[in-house]
Amino acid sequence: MSEAIMGRKCLFSWCKSSNGLHMFPRDAARARLWLRAVGWPSTTDTSRLYVCSKHFSRESFENWRMVDFGLVDYQCKLRLAIDAVPSPEDFSILSEPKLCCEMACQTEQPAKKDAACQTHPDMKHMSTQHRWKPERRSKSTQVKQQKRHVGCNTSTPFIPLEKGPLATSTPLKRPRREAEDSDCSFQPGMTDSSIYNESTVIATPPHIMRKFIVYEENLMDLFKNCPACSRHCAIKSRTVGTVLHVDQTCVHCEHHKQWASQPYVKNIPAGNLQLAAAVLFSGSSFLQVTKFMQAFNIQGICHTTYLKHQRTFLFPTINWQWKQHQNTVIAEALKGRNVVLGGDMRADSPGHSAKYGTYSLMDLRANKIMEIQLIQSNEVGNSQRMEKEGLERSLRELEQRGVTVRKIVTDRHPGVMKFLRESRPSILHRYDAWHMAKGVGKKIDELAKQRSCKEVGPWKKSIVNHLYWCGASSSSGKEIVAKWRSVVNHVQDIHEHEGEFQRCQHPPLVGDQARQWLKPSTAACEKLTQVILAPKLLKDLENLSSDFQTSGLESYHSLILKFAPKSVAFSFVGMLCRTQLAAMHYNENSGRPQATTAAGELRWHMQYPRYRRGEYTVRLLKRNPTFEYVDRLQDLLFESVLEQPQLFQESLKGLQVPDHLCTQFQRPEKSEAVAQHTSRFRPPSVCL
Ligand SMILES: [Zn+2]
Ligand SMILES: [Zn+2]
Ligand SMILES: [Zn+2]
Repeated sequence: MSEAIMGRKCLFSWCKSSNGLHMFPRDAARARLWLRAVGWPSTTDTSRLYVCSKHFSRESFENWRMVDFGLVDYQCKLRLAIDAVPSPEDFSILSEPKLCCEMACQTEQPAKKDAACQTHPDMKHMSTQHRWKPERRSKSTQVKQQKRHVGCNTSTPFIPLEKGPLATSTPLKRPRREAEDSDCSFQPGMTDSSIYNESTVIATPPHIMRKFIVYEENLMDLFKNCPACSRHCAIKSRTVGTVLHVDQTCVHCEHHKQWASQPYVKNIPAGNLQLAAAVLFSGSSFLQVTKFMQAFNIQGICHTTYLKHQRTFLFPTINWQWKQHQNTVIAEALKGRNVVLGGDMRADSPGHSAKYGTYSLMDLRANKIMEIQLIQSNEVGNSQRMEKEGLERSLRELEQRGVTVRKIVTDRHPGVMKFLRESRPSILHRYDAWHMAKGVGKKIDELAKQRSCKEVGPWKKSIVNHLYWCGASSSSGKEIVAKWRSVVNHVQDIHEHEGEFQRCQHPPLVGDQARQWLKPSTAACEKLTQVILAPKLLKDLENLSSDFQTSGLESYHSLILKFAPKSVAFSFVGMLCRTQLAAMHYNENSGRPQATTAAGELRWHMQYPRYRRGEYTVRLLKRNPTFEYVDRLQDLLFESVLEQPQLFQESLKGLQVPDHLCTQFQRPEKSEAVAQHTSRFRPPSVCL
């Protein structure tokens, strides 16, 4: 026996049995169910975890009856049903005492498949003891019933048979509501106690159950024939959004059955709610998903229902989850030394007519988004002032939570510079190198367009790299500026300089490396010198950030684009929640390691410029992103928010939602505008 096999044990510490072990399911969703059942975190790696047979109820095994007959050795040959879930209880199914009459009953029962056998009073009594009813029900629908062992685990009193001969056709009680013709008419909180049984326990949360694509005809095959008399049945079906209700009535006997294709949670078809949740939590667009579903001809939900679920349940879920997550990010940051933040704004439309601006502050040490402020341009007069307003609000929010900021790195936005200088003099303000380099690069590009200055163009890349190097290699602002100034000499093939930085640090340049030096006092040289030595630039370079940059914020901003595309208009709360989703995605994935091959070698990616010829860059290939925040959001939604929606909606009520932009303008009545339009463009023939 190998060492690995010898080490295998049941994961329950009080059990540690090494007999009859079952591996965790390969399917991630099912594995998560197991982890939840045994009380382990949902992120645990389950590849080497085992649970022994003792922790499964009898009904969890496909062949438990054979075990009872002694036909199967339970420690070796028990076969788990695909939907089985362990529990911390000790079932020890073989140690149960067996009565003779039970044995007799069980040996006969499987052979008798028709309902008639239950009309025998004795038989009915026996079968009750053995929970034959749930078993039978799942047989009659031919659909594998989820969680057959629930009754066993929770010791719910068994529902007595009441209807005599046709008792098997009575469906088990479960949350259900009479369906309306349109899914748009659902009302949250509406209950009808006569058809909705609150106490029914659904042990597998509906959002974790697997769903399948089932074709209508194949599904209806199951209802064609009466399970009692095998003759043809009348079938009526109707849909409520994604849920299908089937009424099966036998015209020959009295069999009648109502069936729904999904469970209901709090009177809402679980699939309708989860579809809306999946669309939003994954950052997709409802219209895009609807288009996809129509192409596939899958039943979906209407836009009104989507918006209703979004407003009632989904937005509160996201906002709550983000606040919780934010608390942990802040708590982590406070453990370390003083906090270093990066700040930047992203406008939702290009140019200077932005509707929304998202201001984000990032903990640069941890590379995690710490605070988001969404601002609508009419809140602050115009979009230019949004950046300063965003920073001010985010800083205030963090300060209220006890965060002391030592240093903040931003671009050189004039409003932000002024605000920090005047209102937060204790915070060191440093400028991001990428933004400064971009500014210098642009100026050189402009210069190179002039006919007399073409020679400047090839220098752009070196000069920009020089700027990064100045920041990264210096310990003081003065040193940065001295190094930066030297580039004016360098482009003229002079490598000895006056002042603090006396000599270029590169080795002598020969061959290809010797560039097209600029000739002194030519227009190109003079103008480039002006750009490099511009007083404003020199002054700001003193505050170039040498250790922390805001490139993480740039990638976060491009991530927001995926969660809230610029082409789609979102409400204020919708936009806010989507940026919060993007932040949770970023924070979960910002630190993910480089991908490796199966052999353990690091993986790289070559990147070429898309349109023009140019030098490639080598980037490290990261591991695929994970989406645990989506799982957590769905857990929160189905386990907590649905229970007490008001509690979660409160957190959004405190939010100040600004007026719509359009309220600033007077709009004509639509009917008037249409009338005017048609009279102006009326065809000539009608005019006559
Ligand atoms: Zn065990
Ligand atoms: Zn029938
Ligand atoms: Zn040089």
